[in-house]
Amino acid sequence: MRAPVLSIIVPVKDEEEAIGPFVERVGSVIRSLSDPAAKSFEILFVDDGSSDDTLNRIKRAHEADDRVRAISFSRNFGKEAALSAGLDEALGQAIVPMDVDLQDPPEVLGDMIAKWREGFEIVYGVRNDRETDSLPKRLTADLYYRAHNWMSDDKIPEHAGDFRLLDRKVVDVIRAMPERTRFMKGLFAWAGFRQASVSYRREQRQHGQTKFNYWKLWTFALDGITSASTAPLRIWSYLGGIVAMLALFYAIFVTIRTLIFGVQVPGYASLMVAILFLGGLQLLSLGILGEYVGRILVETKHRPLYIVRERIGGDD
Ligand code: UDP
Ligand code: MG
Repeated sequence: MRAPVLSIIVPVKDEEEAIGPFVERVGSVIRSLSDPAAKSFEILFVDDGSSDDTLNRIKRAHEADDRVRAISFSRNFGKEAALSAGLDEALGQAIVPMDVDLQDPPEVLGDMIAKWREGFEIVYGVRNDRETDSLPKRLTADLYYRAHNWMSDDKIPEHAGDFRLLDRKVVDVIRAMPERTRFMKGLFAWAGFRQASVSYRREQRQHGQTKFNYWKLWTFALDGITSASTAPLRIWSYLGGIVAMLALFYAIFVTIRTLIFGVQVPGYASLMVAILFLGGLQLLSLGILGEYVGRILVETKHRPLYIVRERIGGDD
């Protein structure tokens, strides 16, 4: 098998309904492109520990068309790990991660490839509206992008999902990064390169339902910020400094007042407030320290990012 020009990598978790329609739609869109990539592409599924019929559907798709291949994980490792695996495994010169639910319209691939031929190494897709996401999801996403870009030096483009074209050069850089916590958007921002964007409308999910609840998104957001920025660690020195200054002024004030007016017993309220406030701050800062220490632990274990149980197509 000759190495393809274009690799589409697709993380899937329990998506039996979506496999067939995805292969059909993406395949036909790519075949209709005028670019030479249309004749040389692969669709690489990464089965992220699905427990339904997903893997069998992929096998069937592979039998029908050997440009469809897959690796299957030993368990669910999460979408970021699945994307990492896809980048490791893909053979193309241009690599595009896509969601299997067809929320990323394959028609955009043409524009992406055109930009890539112009010499851009990263062409990210930007959602020009997020109508299809619920209001709370849009608001929290907005807040997240702001917080992330405020704290981190590597700005991530707002409303760019994982749907983007990556040149082989970029993929090789990302693959050489040793860290376990793979917050892809942050890694791409850090890597640099010539970047362009194409905008698109994010569509409704075609089959099944979203795999991300708010708790998962929150954990994901924490991963993103703690892996890209140390600002949450540093803020405590400043806050501590400010509180200590205020405490000093207050101490001077109380001393002088005592010298002038004598000892005053009342003061329970201010005492309680100070103790509770500082106690709260200390716990919070300890928690944040713990968050980073936990991440150091995960990194030092040097465990693999994912475990491949089975391969479909490709070398075998
Ligand atoms: N996905 C995955 N592993 C997971 C969760 C999701 O590989 O643990 C895949 C999923 O099958 C889909 C893509 O990631 O192809 C995006 O998931 P989803 O559509 O649920 O996310 P949303 O579009 O709601 O952000
Ligand atoms: Mg989706």
